Amino acid sequence: MRGSEISLARQLKARGLRPTRQRLALAHLLLGNGARHVTAEELFHEARDSGIPVSLATVYNTLHQFTRAGLLSEVVVGSGQSYFDTNVTSHWHFYDRTTGEVVDIPDEAIAFARLPDPPPGKVIDRVDVVIRVRHADQPQPVSTGEDD
Ligand SMILES: [Zn+2]
Repeated sequence: MRGSEISLARQLKARGLRPTRQRLALAHLLLGNGARHVTAEELFHEARDSGIPVSLATVYNTLHQFTRAGLLSEVVVGSGQSYFDTNVTSHWHFYDRTTGEVVDIPDEAIAFARLPDPPPGKVIDRVDVVIRVRHADQPQPVSTGEDD
């Protein structure tokens, strides 16, 4: 095993995930290339292109396991449409409705003047902000009902 794989195996174990060959290979693709946002389909194609024999279902399951373990965060941009973010620190996102691109907005670029009190007995666990943008010279995309 190479050094980077040993370190990934340690990260997985530390978060209660058995470092199986498939998990290690997917972790290497995801976490070995700097901060990025990736869909399950994109990771599936990257894995296939790298000769990693995985199914799309395995990629989905692994992404959700990594998210529950705190290795990734999920950015939901529409119903059934998620990006997985290797940057798990607090930050926000622009979502380009024209190209489907997700771009980080630094934490300090947004301030909340007011947040509602959570219901009794609850605390705010997390706030997600996705600002949808489109190219200024393009018309507003027709809503398919899947995107909002
Ligand atoms: Zn991000």
